[in-house]
Amino acid sequence: MSGGITDSHCHVWWDQFDDDRDLVLQRARDAGVERMVVVGTDVETSVASLELAAREEGLHGTAGIHPHDAAKFDDRARRSIEELCQRADCVGVGETGLDWFKEWAPRDAQLASFRWHLELARTLDKPVIIHSREAHEDTLELVQGCPGVRGVMHCFVMGPEELPHYVDAGLHISFSGIVTFKGSAENQEAARRCPEELLLVETDAPFLAPTPHRGKRNEPAFCADTLRFVAELRGVSAEHLARVTSENASRLFGLTPLEAR
Ligand SMILES: [Zn+2]
Ligand SMILES: [Zn+2]
Repeated sequence: MSGGITDSHCHVWWDQFDDDRDLVLQRARDAGVERMVVVGTDVETSVASLELAAREEGLHGTAGIHPHDAAKFDDRARRSIEELCQRADCVGVGETGLDWFKEWAPRDAQLASFRWHLELARTLDKPVIIHSREAHEDTLELVQGCPGVRGVMHCFVMGPEELPHYVDAGLHISFSGIVTFKGSAENQEAARRCPEELLLVETDAPFLAPTPHRGKRNEPAFCADTLRFVAELRGVSAEHLARVTSENASRLFGLTPLEAR
């Protein structure tokens, strides 16, 4: 496998990586994962994402409040996230979105937080990073209520019926290890049909390790497995898909193209 892979979504600030973070990043680079978008989930981890990205070649940070943490979304958090998102080195707004599956935060709080992040992303013209679980209709309604917003459906777990709605909204679609699981036929069909210019891959590490690492802690190196799997589904080479998904990530997040570095 040649290099040039971009993991469009990971959380390598997580304390599960505290003991071996340098090795994890090295293994990623050895596996060809040269670039990682490091995603914040509240004020503290957004700061951590940007700090880590400032230290490490090929890492880029984002700032936002995860739907699970939407109860923390008060005036102070809002001001902090807004300031972080305005920074030139912050490449995305989020992650934000709606999670009706776990519903760890009240729905009202999730809806208000998601709306606010969408508006902020549109105002700053930065991509919004959307988490959506069992919340297709509400997610779509809020996205459509914010025309002109750019962004990505991260860890897209839906099927070919839902896909066109997000494509029509102009969003990028990022596939995670879930697409490699047995029983993911619908999600695999979406990965086949997704327009090439909107396609991304991610790990969402430390969660959701792809086959053959399922059940283990996930890490960005495993993005290469998901990439290979999606390439096979689409009948293209892994090299081709690495290049295309990295170009898409460069365009979406405003990153210097990998070839030009
Ligand atoms: Zn998520
Ligand atoms: Zn995430």
